[in-house]
Amino acid sequence: MYAQVIVDIVHENVARTFTYLVPEGMELVPGWRVAVPFGKRTIEGVVLSLTESCDLPPEKVRSITERLEDYPAILPELLTLATDMAEETHASLAETLRLMLPAQMRGGRVRVKTETVAELAVSPQEAEKAASEQGRSMKRRTLLTLLSDGEIHPVAELALLVKDPLPALRQLEEAGLVRLSEREVLRRPNGALNAPEKADPPLTDEQREALNLMLPPTRRGEGRFLLFGVTGSGKTEVFIRIVRDCLARGKGAIILVPEIALTPQMVDWFMGRFGPVAAVLHSRLSPGERFDEWRRIRRGDARVVIGARSAIFAPLENPGVIIVDEEHETTYLSDRHPRYDARAIAEKRCDREGAALVLASATPSILSFARTRKGSLRLVELPRRVFDRPLPEVELTDMRRELNSGNRSIFSRALRESLMNAVRKGQQAMLLMNHRGYHSFVSCRTCGKAVKCPNCDISMTYHMIGSDGRLHCHYCGAAVPVPTICPDCGSPHIRYFGAGTQRVEEELKAMFPGVGIVRMDVDTTSGKDGHAKLLDIFRSGRAQILVGTQMIAKGLDFPRVTLVGVMAADMSLNLPDYRARERTFQLLTQVAGRAGRGEEPGRVIIQTYKPEDPVIAAAARQDYRAFFEEELARRRASWYPPFSVLTRLLVESPSEDTARRCAEELGRRVEEMLAAHPDWNRRVLTRIVDQPGARYLRGKARWHVLLKLSASPEAERFCAALTDLAREPRSDLAEVWFEYNPVTMM
Ligand code: ADP
Ligand code: ZN
Ligand code: ZN
Repeated sequence: MYAQVIVDIVHENVARTFTYLVPEGMELVPGWRVAVPFGKRTIEGVVLSLTESCDLPPEKVRSITERLEDYPAILPELLTLATDMAEETHASLAETLRLMLPAQMRGGRVRVKTETVAELAVSPQEAEKAASEQGRSMKRRTLLTLLSDGEIHPVAELALLVKDPLPALRQLEEAGLVRLSEREVLRRPNGALNAPEKADPPLTDEQREALNLMLPPTRRGEGRFLLFGVTGSGKTEVFIRIVRDCLARGKGAIILVPEIALTPQMVDWFMGRFGPVAAVLHSRLSPGERFDEWRRIRRGDARVVIGARSAIFAPLENPGVIIVDEEHETTYLSDRHPRYDARAIAEKRCDREGAALVLASATPSILSFARTRKGSLRLVELPRRVFDRPLPEVELTDMRRELNSGNRSIFSRALRESLMNAVRKGQQAMLLMNHRGYHSFVSCRTCGKAVKCPNCDISMTYHMIGSDGRLHCHYCGAAVPVPTICPDCGSPHIRYFGAGTQRVEEELKAMFPGVGIVRMDVDTTSGKDGHAKLLDIFRSGRAQILVGTQMIAKGLDFPRVTLVGVMAADMSLNLPDYRARERTFQLLTQVAGRAGRGEEPGRVIIQTYKPEDPVIAAAARQDYRAFFEEELARRRASWYPPFSVLTRLLVESPSEDTARRCAEELGRRVEEMLAAHPDWNRRVLTRIVDQPGARYLRGKARWHVLLKLSASPEAERFCAALTDLAREPRSDLAEVWFEYNPVTMM
């Protein structure tokens, strides 16, 4: 037998399979990880296929060294998925296969953890008899008695009752009375195994109706749903029932949630409902925990997977449903190579593996909602909050008017009064500030330029408190001293600009001495449990006000919050991105949804300089449909997705000159392709060869060939040709990536 093996090296010269001889007696199937000789080294690889014969002369074929695990690590479905993704995303198979494994499993950097256990080697009667014999130490007698229940006991557990038991156990082992062995233990995050089982509450009528719509197609393995439910409508409870139904039919489930929502609260809650049949995958797990959760899924011990984006590659066999909660979140798009959209991967898995797909959101993405019109997704609605709790009242305050009447503070009078009110009544408030740092940018008063990162062409930010007095790049982590003169024009008039979460926190402290305030942004939530600790303080009531960036807008459920304030609603509206309006609507609606989730009704105050803007007005009314219609019309008028496809060939190179020349050459090739295909050419709306917004990132110069195509089958075929163009081997030092509706065009 011969095996075609993909070796775990990413290099153009090895982007193919290598043939190895399968040693006599080694059981193998595609997907098994193996060690193989490669040149003078031994490296890891994955078996892609097996054949009876091979064309190579026998002396050229070397043997597989060993199997790395005693099971195939990659399921057949995931092997196919990796192959397709490599095709579609201009990645090598070695790279897409890496997505299917816990990172540390490669190279054997994480191991199975074991513990020593003891059990009787004789019958309990014999053990008791032996215990009573003369000449045994007290220690050995006690151990024999403890073990005479016939169970297997970890030595660590016995050590709680008998001091230093191992030498005594070894003596008993020599006497043939006790057997010692190594047993595998699983590292479980959050001690999840012990979480108590909680009962399912009865469903509300609306939840039941939604479930009745969704279950029959799901059982046939074909439902494709968009569950559109307002904030607090109880979508999670609907998920749980669908998952239970899948489990009862012997199927599994994957539930994707945004990383940020995978709070310990959320995890505990899921564990409480599903117990040990659930596994969690997120970035805060230790490598050991991640590996063990992955293995529990691979073995079939865990049948419900809750995880962030990459959990879509979980080795779950036979999924009955894949749920994507908060489907509008951009975190489902991976911006690192190999780029993928977890929602598209989810749909692909559902198609192949006969599972139902549920995308869910209170503010669906324009693209998903548009699909419900075309019928490729079925719309299921939960239009009201559970128990008819009212949606919060939203009030817009016009910051221009505040300024005109002499209020220069960052708080409008309405927000200040409402805050005072909430604090006085012992209620809680959340304030959203879509900016980090005390003073975000440092810019020049003379020429107006902001100080940019030397590697990234992105403005650097300064942090007032706990700062090392330097400017930081949020993209690559670079830090430079604050300049005293403008690096661009030499002017000494350099100043801080913009107010962030730190500034809001300080003003609050001055306004409410003695009141607990928690600030959550990227700076305060680093570390393994940074997030959890701050949320715990707020949940326990030790703090009354929570100030934060958009990370507080999503998914949090604090029943005592009665006031939500948005410091500057327009901040994200003017970003140079066609999705800025969609993002702003989502952010405002989501954060408003944090108010009034308990008994007390909620109030929301949105500060804005543009109260008449339709996006802000629709968000204030929490009127998704009005927003959708207006936004769809706008996109139709200016040819944006879903009416068009935005693509680009992105070029990156250490040399600015190489990047430019490569982009220009690609531009010419594109022209040639279009000249040869008039049917493609008809679909091209714009094409530009230019430098993107970020002219360099992580030290590399960037150029791109930007294309806007009207959505059509011809455009898709053109994109396939562009993918091939990007993958052509190059002799210069440029890398070319093909991007299809990318997260950002920067
Ligand atoms: P959504 O995700 O739609 O914003 P959640 O699923 O978080 O809403 O539900 C909102 C709140 O209502 C939660 O506190 C949840 O526990 C509660 N809830 C949902 N459904 C029920 C039900 N059938 N019975 C009792 N409480 C419910
Ligand atoms: Zn200047
Ligand atoms: Zn940088």
